[in-house]
Amino acid sequence: MPSAQANAPVHSSLVAETACHHNDKSVRAGMQTNETDRSNTAEDTLQLEMPTRALTILEASEWLQVIAENEDVDPPLLTQERLSRNLQGLAISADWCIAVRSKKPNQLLLLHEMAHLVCANKNHGTEFRTQVVRFLRRYVSVTHAARLHALYEEAGLSVDPFSSSM
Ligand SMILES: [Zn+2]
Repeated sequence: MPSAQANAPVHSSLVAETACHHNDKSVRAGMQTNETDRSNTAEDTLQLEMPTRALTILEASEWLQVIAENEDVDPPLLTQERLSRNLQGLAISADWCIAVRSKKPNQLLLLHEMAHLVCANKNHGTEFRTQVVRFLRRYVSVTHAARLHALYEEAGLSVDPFSSSM
């Protein structure tokens, strides 16, 4: 019985919601003014250009477990929950938990939320973007990682040099 499929209650504490991933509807609406929106747009573009695999919750849970072992952190609890319409996923550091809206989350979304868990800074800043690129390189492909790095730079978003994502 995979624990990831347990019907965990939706986390009601907004304080615990350290990070979130908005879907691309707000982006399409045109207001790309802040760093979070521009970061998410770059990631949405990557997912359109070079789709990462969609995994079942069980597959995703096992994949995150492998990543956690490699990264020397505890494996996060992954749950599928009825998140609000503008959220695809949430990383909740206090509970070391990732919640996703889809029953088949893609790898990029999972790495996005995993990066929130492991980054000291919980925003969508330089540390976060560098971590997403590094995770893509290690767990998806160097091609995906290089493309997202370029998309971030094209959007004027700071990210450490690609060579440092090894
Ligand atoms: Zn996020």
